[in-house]
Amino acid sequence: MEKGPEFMEKLVSLCKRKGFIFQSSEIYGGLNGFWDYGPYGTALKRAVEQMWWNYMVESRSNVEGLDSTIICNPKIWKASGHLDKFGDMMVDCRECKTRHRSDQMEDVKTCPACGSKNVTEPREFNLMMKTFVGPVFDEDHAAYLRAETCQPIFADFHLVRIAARKKLPFGIAQVGKAFRNEINPRNFTFRSREFSQMEMEFFCTEEESMNWYEYWKAERKKYYIDLLKFGEDELKFQDHGPGELAHYAKAAVDIEFKFPFGWGELEGIHHRGTWDMSRHQEFSGENLEYLDQDNGNRKLIPTVVETSAGLDRSILAILCHAYDEDMADTKKEGMEEDVRAVLRLPARIAPVQAAILPLAKKLMEPAEKLYKDISPFFRSEFDVTGSIGKRYRRQDEIGTPFCVTFDFESLNDNAVTVRHRDSMEQERISMTELSHYLAKQVMAN
Ligand code: ATP
Repeated sequence: MEKGPEFMEKLVSLCKRKGFIFQSSEIYGGLNGFWDYGPYGTALKRAVEQMWWNYMVESRSNVEGLDSTIICNPKIWKASGHLDKFGDMMVDCRECKTRHRSDQMEDVKTCPACGSKNVTEPREFNLMMKTFVGPVFDEDHAAYLRAETCQPIFADFHLVRIAARKKLPFGIAQVGKAFRNEINPRNFTFRSREFSQMEMEFFCTEEESMNWYEYWKAERKKYYIDLLKFGEDELKFQDHGPGELAHYAKAAVDIEFKFPFGWGELEGIHHRGTWDMSRHQEFSGENLEYLDQDNGNRKLIPTVVETSAGLDRSILAILCHAYDEDMADTKKEGMEEDVRAVLRLPARIAPVQAAILPLAKKLMEPAEKLYKDISPFFRSEFDVTGSIGKRYRRQDEIGTPFCVTFDFESLNDNAVTVRHRDSMEQERISMTELSHYLAKQVMAN
């Protein structure tokens, strides 16, 4: 289907209606840039996070996990440069009191909201969110919500290395919340003020670093294509040109997704040189060198290659990719001919992987037993209300890949009908085989 700007309205409305994503504190009018995940959204988010974690950490012997705090010693942010530099150039309108990023304005002397020329010169605005630790609210007790998940990884590098008995090269990964006081939150969850990141910092020697950079680029592409099933035409690898690179970086690429509102960054892969570790050595006064026993005991500051993805942006891309409408043969399932709304989610991340549907109220008891058998292994739902056609439609809208119908025949043949979301085809499967069958299907879809 056509995925233009009006598509976003449909998606935002589905997300709210079906309990995927809605405004935070909605009864109070919401809060700009903050979003809550409802029951299906939570299930999807956890599944995507787990898939990333499995791909990046659990299935590799050279990447370790970390779960650091959101509030850290503020010196971390001094060392990383966030306190001094992390910001955008902003223009304030003196008339309508709106604030705009100067790089997003057509003309920095004209307010894009009201057209007034009564605007300030562009000035720097820091994006770090500030708080205070302890009972005294003064500058000595100021602290910050982390603006990215990677800085504590650098600070904890040696503790992790020693505990995990690791030699270079190896990586440390973490998933968690990050906070940025974005000036202009927009495009649904794309630019939020509170969001989750999935980051992995890979520590290696300078000589090997470009090979690792290319390796991670290829791995991350594989993840989006093979696991999330994005099309090649939905992704763009946008290399940073020499003028766009940070002064310490050797190479960087943005992985962009074709959103209905235009191309937008999903993930950055950055060669960060020795910048981060050198800065933390300088600001902490600790020796953060690594003793390279494989190379004549030389001492070095590890070079870092980073993969930094946004979890909320991934979810948004997944939903944009998955939402579809078709004119399936709905009559066959006892419904009037109509447009069918369907989320074509990969089975591994669908919030409900199998819906157990008794055909009649009388069959509830044995069907519920089947649900209890299946639900420890698959995200399942037991749905008894409405005609079977309506229940299929409801499951299509939330992306359930397999509807398992328990009918009167099931009592005799100990089998159920599995209906596939995309093809709407049905198969008869023995109940004793069902778990095995679903496991194979989830792995393949
Ligand atoms: P942008 O240019 O869009 O502001 P960035 O280059 O500042 O992003 P990074 O600092 O590289 O982003 O952060 C890594 C990832 O974190 C991004 O690719 C994105 O997926 C996610 N991310 C960053 N800022 C936000 C935000 N405000 N809301 C949601 N996700 C974000």
